[in-house]
Amino acid sequence: MKDSDVGDNTVEVFCIGGLVSEKCTKSIEVQLSETSAVIDLVDSVWAKEPFKPILFVTPALSGFSRLLEELSELGRNPFLVEATGIPETMLSGLSLDSIIEYWIGMLVTTLAERKNARRRSPRVSRREVLRRLFLVPHRYVLLPRLRSTPVVCGSEAVCPFSALEAGRLDESRCQGCMLCAWECPESVEAPLWTGPSGLLYTYRFIDDYGLDGILFICRSRLEQLDKLAVEASPARLAPFHVPCVSWLSPRLLKVLTDFGVYVHVYAGSGVCRGCGLEVASTSAASMLVKNSIRVSGNLAEAGIAAFTGYARPRRSLKEVVVKMVEALRGTKLV
Ligand code: SF4
Repeated sequence: MKDSDVGDNTVEVFCIGGLVSEKCTKSIEVQLSETSAVIDLVDSVWAKEPFKPILFVTPALSGFSRLLEELSELGRNPFLVEATGIPETMLSGLSLDSIIEYWIGMLVTTLAERKNARRRSPRVSRREVLRRLFLVPHRYVLLPRLRSTPVVCGSEAVCPFSALEAGRLDESRCQGCMLCAWECPESVEAPLWTGPSGLLYTYRFIDDYGLDGILFICRSRLEQLDKLAVEASPARLAPFHVPCVSWLSPRLLKVLTDFGVYVHVYAGSGVCRGCGLEVASTSAASMLVKNSIRVSGNLAEAGIAAFTGYARPRRSLKEVVVKMVEALRGTKLV
């Protein structure tokens, strides 16, 4: 069995531009930026296995955000697709084989959530419906999971899109920003992706490979790593892609920093400008900063921190799990 086979959830690993790894399931000649050709490849996989996660391994990440947008607009679930490659080997100092192994594991860890993305059209008035019938692009949204007996946590203070009212979720308004999961944990479950499951997966990986920390970066800003990854050197950081930085819990990231992990959230300084979730990312960035989490668009800061040295005593995974569970039960965020 190849490493890219994990139980029933196989991951298709497309290696682009002559990149070679024993973990590639197919080598292809098209570039990630050739969106139509890449979507044809995605369709050829999903025609046989509609929920199969796909990993593109590429010399450059340019074109990934366009690919995500077009997949959504064409009615394909973009959360089943990830990309990695040379920029992330530079960021982490890992071999191509190891970074692919990391992403295969991450896709499998978070697959149940990714599969649940809902396809929907933006809200339009009845008068607009006919005019825009063929023009309104589809979007995919990962909705928060409400607890079986949700308590009322207020409305605007929790949800910037007024989608959570009186303990009920208005799915048509929800933008899937996940702020409510951190603002109202009594009512909303933590997502798998950026909750303890995803974070512990990455924590274990950086411990195994002796990395310095984690760079959290929005999937729609991933291609910035083409030019910025080298700036983080000599720090060795595991990349952690998120749907939006609003998916990040300040309390959970604080657990990581308390254990000596270097945590860097790529945001601020206009990084999120123009994004539909900008209001959520701005609010999230402010909460992260208030909780002493480094939020910056300048990856050179990671390199400077590496020069001064990191001290991370080895901890048992159990200890980290306990702290994360405690953090999720903690009091409301500042
Ligand atoms: S806070 Fe975000 S995820 Fe939660 S209900 Fe509002 S829009 Fe949806």
